[in-house]
Amino acid sequence: MSGREIKYIKEAFETNWIAPLGPNVDAFEKEIANYLGVSDAAAVSSGTAAIHLALSLLDIKQGDIVFCSTLTFVASANPILYQGAVPIFIDSEPDSWNMSPIALKKAMEDAYKSGKLPKAVIVVHLYGQSAKMDEIITLCNQYGVPIIEDAAESLGSFYKGKPSGTLGKFGVYSFNGNKIISTSSGGMLVSDDRELINKARFLATQAKDPAPHYQHSTLGFNYRMSNILAGIGRGQLEVLEERVKARRLLFERYKNELGLLPGVTFMPELIETSTNRWLTALTINESVTGFPKDYLLKSLADENIEARPVWKPLHMQPLFEGTKYYPHTENMNVSEDLFEGGLCLPSGSNMTIEDQNRVIAIVKNCLKVKV
Ligand SMILES: *Cc1c(COP(=O)(O)O)cnc(C)c1O
Repeated sequence: MSGREIKYIKEAFETNWIAPLGPNVDAFEKEIANYLGVSDAAAVSSGTAAIHLALSLLDIKQGDIVFCSTLTFVASANPILYQGAVPIFIDSEPDSWNMSPIALKKAMEDAYKSGKLPKAVIVVHLYGQSAKMDEIITLCNQYGVPIIEDAAESLGSFYKGKPSGTLGKFGVYSFNGNKIISTSSGGMLVSDDRELINKARFLATQAKDPAPHYQHSTLGFNYRMSNILAGIGRGQLEVLEERVKARRLLFERYKNELGLLPGVTFMPELIETSTNRWLTALTINESVTGFPKDYLLKSLADENIEARPVWKPLHMQPLFEGTKYYPHTENMNVSEDLFEGGLCLPSGSNMTIEDQNRVIAIVKNCLKVKV
């Protein structure tokens, strides 16, 4: 927390707006929409809920197909299953670690030939890095398929001058405890389609028909954000830019210290984009270093430092066993390679230089570099 949140929380208490609606919710939605330059935003209980609402608004039902990035957190794809729809996973490409336009093209062509196009494509912006949106948008427009941007990790990132998450039909953000700004738990669904965002609010509050009695003709959810948590969000949004700066600086220091060591490759930054560097991610090439990434993770853990492997691709998850998957090329599984060698270093916005030096020293020690 930054300290600025308490003012808005106090307001909620003093005015007794302790509910999943209220002035903080309305204001937080407006402030996010202004920051992003979109017309509308709906504050919800989680990023997962926002993805679920987006699928619901696109009328995705039992048996429909949805394409989704494979290298991501499970929450990107779970709502596809909530709707009884069928995911098809798309591999990453090396420049951005995100959805491969080459694999997507192949998947679209196959879907078109089989007479069953996907009803949506969920594009993830991993660790703050934007996917190759121009290529992906061109392909999706060609087939008339709407894009849901899972920007849960990329609030504060930009693609060719536009905020990450504002290029598709819907953008989704998360304010979970680990994200760049947090409301403890929360999310936001944004779009330039006012009617759809109004409908999202309707669906997120149990889909109550405009009748004086309790009447329901649509299946709804209980997905709205609490007025207290929205207050936290308002305070957090004020420090977003500071945090992006801090995280980009952390990345630069890690890269300056470790980037030239043999077998170590940092996540690139796609040209004409700016990532929030939510997490500093890198890969270890075991054939050069002589040890796998797990050795590095363990060496850090032995010093009570938590680092994490890169997300396990969803097409490799037992939950999604048997799901169709399109690799980058016939003999290149980029996401599998990234999982094999990839890890995220501690990247908290409030890390001190001393904290960071401890991490750097351990990595150098593993690589037998004099500190
Ligand atoms: C965190 C995250 C989500 C889910 O957000 P919650 O608010 O935790 O539900 C979805 N997608 C990605 C890529 C995430 O990192």
